[in-house]
Amino acid sequence: MAKDYDVVILGGGTGGYVAAIRASQLGLKTAIVEKNKMGGTCLHAGCIPTKALLRSAEVYVQSKKALDFGVEVNDVKIDFERVQQRKSSVVDKLYKGVQHLMKKGKIDVYDGFGRILGPSIFSPMPGTISVEMNDGTENEMLVPQNVIVATGSRPRTLDGLKVDGKKVFTSDEFLTIEKLPKSAIIIGGGVIGVEWASMLTDFDVEVTIIELGDRLLPTEDAAISAEMLKSLKKRGVNVHFNVTLDPSAIDTKENVSLQVNDETISAEALLLSVGRVANTANIGLENTEIELNNGYISVNEHFQTKERHIYAIGDVIGGMQLAHVASHEGIRAVEHIAGQNSIPLHYANIARGVYSNPEVASVGLTEEQAKNNGYKVVTTTFPFKAIGKAIVYGETAGFVKVVADESSNDVVGVHLIGPHATDLISEAALGLFLNASPWEVGQMVHLHPSLSEIIGEAALAIEGKAIHF
Ligand code: FAD
Repeated sequence: MAKDYDVVILGGGTGGYVAAIRASQLGLKTAIVEKNKMGGTCLHAGCIPTKALLRSAEVYVQSKKALDFGVEVNDVKIDFERVQQRKSSVVDKLYKGVQHLMKKGKIDVYDGFGRILGPSIFSPMPGTISVEMNDGTENEMLVPQNVIVATGSRPRTLDGLKVDGKKVFTSDEFLTIEKLPKSAIIIGGGVIGVEWASMLTDFDVEVTIIELGDRLLPTEDAAISAEMLKSLKKRGVNVHFNVTLDPSAIDTKENVSLQVNDETISAEALLLSVGRVANTANIGLENTEIELNNGYISVNEHFQTKERHIYAIGDVIGGMQLAHVASHEGIRAVEHIAGQNSIPLHYANIARGVYSNPEVASVGLTEEQAKNNGYKVVTTTFPFKAIGKAIVYGETAGFVKVVADESSNDVVGVHLIGPHATDLISEAALGLFLNASPWEVGQMVHLHPSLSEIIGEAALAIEGKAIHF
């Protein structure tokens, strides 16, 4: 029997489940269809499990440095089975939380694979969702007024190189390894590649990064890329730039080995971190007028596809493929469905993070982007080594770099590398969101001692008035 809804969401990842909660808050009769586990990539194969593993690596590194703080810790070792157990228990706790929120919001959750049907006996418009149920029961037929496609993305692989989960991995398989390899080659020096490289080297794995371009973290400011390279190299990571690989020439018979220029590089494991692909296959897009652009679903500023009652959000529309972006796109889409006038999303004000050691976080334009956008660029940097709390912590590497427009004195980008950067960036993002001037941020009194003083000092530094450097 067909069931009517105000909104049906296809995909229960961060974008989808947050959209469902907002829809229920707005009194919309809501269903969500999820083929795997509610919480999606971020909760089960992305943000949360990787950060739990990174935290274990951090504790290991800190424990080895304990004597610097006058604490004697003997025989520091990694018990990787327990590392993985802790990661799983963090994920489970949050998974239960998401399931509870679905119940609390009286959101109907369908465990199965959803497809969009064309005009049918149920509706003259495309958008009826047929759900192939995981438990093998008869397909459910959901008839919504509106649909939100939030089917996310999956790891990109390379033609000619088989991912076997034994020697060749994407981050999906690598997250569940039972034993750390002695050595690993990481193909791709973007966010995911750098996070894994940082974690693995901190876990004493010998790491080599192979990067097609000429720097790590290519979407970040060049100064941040250089600092990250310095830190990884100092910790023993080998990095090769400008490498053109023939994936089919990678030998996986014994160890994994590949040729970079005249050098043969071998390792026990190879991790592919070469980007993501949108999940648009088999979801019935051919039954609609929905258009794709470069493999991603095209939407307008309200996240409507060409079929105005079918919205799309999150990784499946491309752009900033981040969990907090997906969830806010979901909220905006639902508010538009409910006829509310919400503030449009300004991507230039949304922060992004790399949870490596050291952490990276940024918001707005890099120096290069600002120049390309025609700004009269002025930059200033302020180091963590001049911040009292960083010295107290023993974490003085890194800096903040502020990119401003000299003509208007507006800040157009803030880039941090150093301790707790992913927490500190929110103040800069708030400043950009509220269009605060550097003077206003500099006038705000920051707690002392705190790492956040670096933001206040950087704001003062733009006018040459920094106090501690
Ligand atoms: P997803 O989370 O991918 O969810 C889509 C869901 O749809 C999935 O659960 C899938 O099973 C389901 N689905 C797909 N097709 C169907 C169908 N036909 N029927 C039913 N269900 C379907 N972002 C951050 O902001 N911070 C981080 O620290 C971070 N770390 C990351 C680390 C890694 C290793 C990876 C891979 C990603 C990371 N990300 C991070 C990115 C983040 O995970 C994604 O941006 C986010 O999950 C996107 O949410 P989404 O809802 O669009 O898609």
